[in-house]
Amino acid sequence: MATDKVSEEYGSLVFTDAEMQDRLPKPTYKELRQTIDEGKPINLKIANEVAHAMKDWALERGATHFTHWFQPLTGITSEKHDGFITPKGDGTVLMTFSGKELVQGEPDASSFPSGGLRATFEARGYTVWDPMSPVFIKDEVLCIPTAFISYTGEALDKKTPLLRSEVAIEKQAKRALALFGKRPRRVVTTCGPEQEYFLIKEEDFEARPDLVLCGRTLFGCEPAKGQELEEHYFGAIRPTVNAFMKEVDDELWKLGVPVRTKHNEVAPCQHEIAPIFEEGSLAIDDNLLTMEKLKLLATRHGLACLEHEKPFKYVNGSGKHDNWSLCADGENLLEPGDDPEDNLQFLVFLACLISAVDEHAGLLRASVASAGNDHRLGANEAPPAIISVFLGDALSPVVDALIKKEHAESHDREQIDLGVPALPDVLRDNTDRNRTSPFAFTGNKFEFRMCGSQQNLSDPNVVLNTAVAEQLDRFCAYVSKCPDEPFRATALRFVRHSFRDHQRIIFDGNGYAGEWEQEAARRGLPNLKSTADALPCIIEPKNIAMFERYDVLSENEIRARYAAASEQYAKLLNIEANTMSYMVRHLYLPALIDYSGNLATSIATKREIGVVGRAELALAQQITDGIDKICENVGRLESKNAEARRVKDCGEQDRLYHDEVIPVMDALREVVDGMERICGRDFWPVPSYNKMLFWV
Ligand code: ADP
Ligand code: MG
Repeated sequence: MATDKVSEEYGSLVFTDAEMQDRLPKPTYKELRQTIDEGKPINLKIANEVAHAMKDWALERGATHFTHWFQPLTGITSEKHDGFITPKGDGTVLMTFSGKELVQGEPDASSFPSGGLRATFEARGYTVWDPMSPVFIKDEVLCIPTAFISYTGEALDKKTPLLRSEVAIEKQAKRALALFGKRPRRVVTTCGPEQEYFLIKEEDFEARPDLVLCGRTLFGCEPAKGQELEEHYFGAIRPTVNAFMKEVDDELWKLGVPVRTKHNEVAPCQHEIAPIFEEGSLAIDDNLLTMEKLKLLATRHGLACLEHEKPFKYVNGSGKHDNWSLCADGENLLEPGDDPEDNLQFLVFLACLISAVDEHAGLLRASVASAGNDHRLGANEAPPAIISVFLGDALSPVVDALIKKEHAESHDREQIDLGVPALPDVLRDNTDRNRTSPFAFTGNKFEFRMCGSQQNLSDPNVVLNTAVAEQLDRFCAYVSKCPDEPFRATALRFVRHSFRDHQRIIFDGNGYAGEWEQEAARRGLPNLKSTADALPCIIEPKNIAMFERYDVLSENEIRARYAAASEQYAKLLNIEANTMSYMVRHLYLPALIDYSGNLATSIATKREIGVVGRAELALAQQITDGIDKICENVGRLESKNAEARRVKDCGEQDRLYHDEVIPVMDALREVVDGMERICGRDFWPVPSYNKMLFWV
């Protein structure tokens, strides 16, 4: 029996497997397990029994409502609470919850982004229980993780394609493993998202409309001190923050979210929280819960949690590292292992992954494209916008040797020279530490580092899962075309050819160096610098074909997702432009007029007694010129933004925002920031970077 606080409370708000086993009749539990483990459909009788047990469990824990918890294309989670109460007619109520209510819901779907799917089909949307992810209680509400689909079955959310892509990769991985004589019961993806965020004082947050409305500062001159002393990274955590982090841990542990590490990050006020990895879609559900808790709990400590990719210019932005692997009944398929047989299997999966990333680099880049992330990718802090794969000192030579060696195929089953010495165990600790690579092999998993901190990791994982499934399928087809050859010789040739054909994507050097950009161009790798450049990859024919072939997304669904993402980009920029003009007209201009008026009064007063303040005069002139410039720029921004808003075609609109609106925003910011530098502090209407980033 657990005696410590953590093991006692861990998962106490989750309807865990242990609870289910405890509360359900044996046959019901068995059927439910089959649904969970094998993806079998659930019948209504079982659903009723499960719902009943869930309700009793939830009521005992003080729940009053239930909700279907889902992830519309906004990427965040949505919920609508329904009470358990059913009036009996005699003034009292019964607490009820049926199998039907558990399995399916019908929220009014009309106000969620659908990329036009509902315009052409039905307005109705359904939420459908995902039994793979356990239900939990949050604020007295029983939350049921669900997928969100349209009347005609089209995915309207982030979870549905993720689950479909997991089916696809499981199927192909099982086929590939069967060739190695393995028949695992399940093959799942594993995912460990490292979440970065900023914490500032809530009063500062509230005083900045840009933070409140856009999640990032649109103005702010460079602070006197940045991150150059590198003292924040892994530094001692200040007590206020620590108290917050402790509460986050406690709350998440109750929800069964296995968060384990926390530390200060590079930028001042920046932190990270990371869990122990879990199965793909569960890890993402848990990451969404983590993000929600971070935001909500911060306010209890007088803090504001910023999850935007770039809350502050001049210091690092925030990402979310997507640690990804494949697991077959407990065997990590990206674990090199130490005997050659395992090595060959590992090499096949590695080769498939590398080919997948190379063939769909543009799509993978698009999967992490957003207005927020554009501030990181390509800037000198996050991986560049070019996708490449880092293998590291231990693995790269193996791949090179394989590519160079042309004659290793033996037709003698017993004597195949793999040309690969057993990959050493030290590999695990030897590989990583190139922090400039967007896609790095870190010993027994890959770490995709381009994802933005606000992002729902379903987007990149759908691409990864499906693209790897495609390559595993290609492997199986390749082997079946050589029935007369020993399997391992064929497999080895497949590996060698894959590495040879996709070698261009492998890069172990410094991704931040300017030369890499030129080298990547020589290699023909895409360099999609902005969201406007990247998003069109989503609807390239080869990507549509891939998603359709593996039943992950139909062409309709893909086009809808493209439309939703590109609309989102334009909408966010429109909000930022509006916020800028609001702040300028309502805050900055009045402040500068005040300050210069104050100077003018002081200059005039001094003149009366014969004193001439030359510096004051110059300053008053400088501020007055600044006011003129700001007015000019804000006018330009408003008209450019109005022009962009009128564009109908979403690709064209994104281009216009990127090419023409953003430069005007930048120019406006520059003049305002220049004024902040010389304006009196008591006049400046919002907290400065100095204050926000260096609070005690
Ligand atoms: P760092 O990247 O900071 O060096 P680690 O490598 O220890 O840290 O792990 C980072 C994250 O990767 C953690 O969330 C961890 O659970 C996750 N992780 C470890 N192994 C796997 C795996 N096989 N699949 C997916 N994620 C994994
Ligand atoms: Mg990491």
